Amino acid sequence: MVKNLIGAEWQEVSRPTLPVYNPATGEVIEEVPLSGKEEVDRAVAAAQRAFEVWSRTPLMERVRLMFRFKELLEKHFEDLAHLVTLHHGKTLEEARGEVRRGIEVVDFACSAPTLLQGRTLREVTGGVDQNLFHYPLGVVAGIPPFNFPVMIPLWMFPIAVVAGNTFVLKPSERTPLGAVRLAELFLEAGFPEGVLNLVHGAQEAAEALVSHPEVKAVQFVGSEPVARRIYQLAAQHGKRVSAAGGAKNHLVVMPDANLDQAIPAILNSAFGNAGERCLAGSVAVGVGGVGPELLERIVESARRLKVGPGWEEGVQVGPLIREEHRKRVVGYIQKGLEEGARLALDGRGIEGKGFFLGPTVLDRVSPRMVVGREEIFGPVLSVSYAQDLEEAIAQANAVPYGNMATIFTQSGRVAREFRERVQAGMVGINVGVAQPFAFYPFSGWRNSFFGDLHPHGPDAFLFYTQRKVVVERW
Ligand code: NAD
Repeated sequence: MVKNLIGAEWQEVSRPTLPVYNPATGEVIEEVPLSGKEEVDRAVAAAQRAFEVWSRTPLMERVRLMFRFKELLEKHFEDLAHLVTLHHGKTLEEARGEVRRGIEVVDFACSAPTLLQGRTLREVTGGVDQNLFHYPLGVVAGIPPFNFPVMIPLWMFPIAVVAGNTFVLKPSERTPLGAVRLAELFLEAGFPEGVLNLVHGAQEAAEALVSHPEVKAVQFVGSEPVARRIYQLAAQHGKRVSAAGGAKNHLVVMPDANLDQAIPAILNSAFGNAGERCLAGSVAVGVGGVGPELLERIVESARRLKVGPGWEEGVQVGPLIREEHRKRVVGYIQKGLEEGARLALDGRGIEGKGFFLGPTVLDRVSPRMVVGREEIFGPVLSVSYAQDLEEAIAQANAVPYGNMATIFTQSGRVAREFRERVQAGMVGINVGVAQPFAFYPFSGWRNSFFGDLHPHGPDAFLFYTQRKVVVERW
């Protein structure tokens, strides 16, 4: 059974457990305990004790430890990627990409001496100077989703702790092993006990953290209904919150698009990570006359994608996270057909023990259909059609989410028009997955984000600090 990390101690929890699977074989590989209020209280108390000293530890010492953590992540890069593949299911290549993107946040955290600088203004009025300092908040908490078991925890605690906070992380109960390994390496790097604590569990543990009076801020990443709920609960308890939610991302293809470039990008966007990505392309919109060729080429290429266990050479689409989730995605395919979509490629019916679903393409989908509006979170790409850019933008803006929207075109004017008018916080131009690097914020809009300051980038340093302004006369 995986253990909670409280201070320096890995503690067993006598609570009901859930199985952790290898989604490619359906085998149970671990058990994860469902911690409750008592375990959360213990973790927060350990973090609180550590905060006294940690918040006064010189910045350069905190950064030195972060550099050591980064070295250990590099040293164990391959093990981390294999662990991600083992319990999440994505391909090894995708897992390596995830670990790399996560380490880049640690690189970014090491730039704290620049990003934690305050400001001064001399002689504001006669003989008076004004200074601004950034202070840590105290104990802060992170609640990540299942789909990036290493990267998303790394969006959270490195920036928080380098800024002087102490942390309680509640990993996803479906993929808790990445966070466990990160915490082991964090301790090995020499961080003092209590700076990072782990509490395993699900809703009960998450709610206990969000309502705990000593937790000053909560960073959540997950589905839209839970993000909304966490945002409300945190506000009710008077604390800072950053809650990133779900998505429904449009990939607009203009008649002048270079399809040789666009098709592989669309395929990777829709079917990479088995579609379990908040930046997954969900609807490909063919504009003007490009529609029929776009559909044909998507189907022809998607048909050739190799589905299988993520660790096998040449596999491009791994399994879904759980059998229930696979059934849910299959339910969406069925719903789409009932609503009048046409099945252009059917990925159902793959044999084997794992939770596999092959690439599926639904044609003639509109934003009025459930499959055109809701997040499916599986390897299902919808195709829709628009007469012109205007209509394509209207389709993208008709969904309540605003995570990402992408356009494929050779016209700078069209790309600029799209950028200006599409209601999404991350925009791709001839790019299938517009993921901002660690030094920019992960900027979902509308129902894809509840809060003010986004994950990573300078936003995260502001999120994890409070400001003090000193007005002085001598
Ligand atoms: P989820 O909302 O089910 O779970 C996320 C976290 O919340 C987990 O740690 C879980 O234990 C906890 N949780 C679940 N139900 C809860 C409840 N009722 N109250 C309190 N906590 C609860 O999400 P998931 O299925 O793990 O992840 C997939 C979702 O995350 C997708 O919707 C995806 O789009 C989204 N996501 C968003 C981003 C982003 O940056 N916007 C990034 C990755 C994933």
